[in-house]
Amino acid sequence: MPAKRPRYLPDLLCDSHVHTRFCGHATGEMEEYVQAAISHGLRKIVFLEHMEEGILTQAKTWLSEEDFDRYFVEGRRLREQYGSQIEIGLGVECGYNEGHGEALLTRLGKRQWDRIGISCHFIKLPGVPEHLNMFSKQAENIDLARRFGPERILDRYLALLHQAIRQLPGTFVCHLDAALRRVPGITLTADHYRMIDGLLRTMKEKGMALELNTSGLDMRGEPFPTRRILSMALACDIPLVLGSDAHKPADVARHFADIAGFIPSPLESCP
Ligand SMILES: [Zn+2]
Ligand SMILES: [Zn+2]
Repeated sequence: MPAKRPRYLPDLLCDSHVHTRFCGHATGEMEEYVQAAISHGLRKIVFLEHMEEGILTQAKTWLSEEDFDRYFVEGRRLREQYGSQIEIGLGVECGYNEGHGEALLTRLGKRQWDRIGISCHFIKLPGVPEHLNMFSKQAENIDLARRFGPERILDRYLALLHQAIRQLPGTFVCHLDAALRRVPGITLTADHYRMIDGLLRTMKEKGMALELNTSGLDMRGEPFPTRRILSMALACDIPLVLGSDAHKPADVARHFADIAGFIPSPLESCP
């Protein structure tokens, strides 16, 4: 029997977060992601396509219900074709929008998702007609965030994410501290950490996991979330899942070989 993995380590042979060209801002067919995962020797890959509801923006970055129909058809075909080599999960990254929780619940309830990742990408700022994409690298979005005040935006982001965790049937929380990641010099305050602590407690109550998202290594030399937040999660005995957040097939399982060094030991995480 293979040695049992310590509970605090995520499954290193499962990439739980990849996108495809369906969302409009990623490239590559689903099949190319499956082939990349097989070439990395993974035992499982989980597609986690973007769902959003009621977001006001010119730049749509998510799937329509018709896209999700096509996604399931193709996903099932790939399961038939590659099922003997790899397990294929069909999941969703459900973005939160205050006032649209019921609509999201209805849409989530219509399908059999392998996993439901919870995130919050967009925020409505007073006096601004469109939602701000807090994950965007566009200069105008970064300027707007700076003008409005990153600290205030992060207060709001964490409050919304906590609402999402309470309201939606999530399996795990995606890239917890990645909002405004493109804004230089961003830091979390003591108040933000208190909010994160509260949010982790709700996750624990609901039996949710926390994503260790390796895209952070490319952006800031450290995964999302930071070691400090990982320690807080492990102290609450919240399990970790590993995701590359690949938006191109070449990024499947990125940095998985180095990730163990970024995970604090349970001893370190004891409060
Ligand atoms: Zn995306
Ligand atoms: Zn995301």
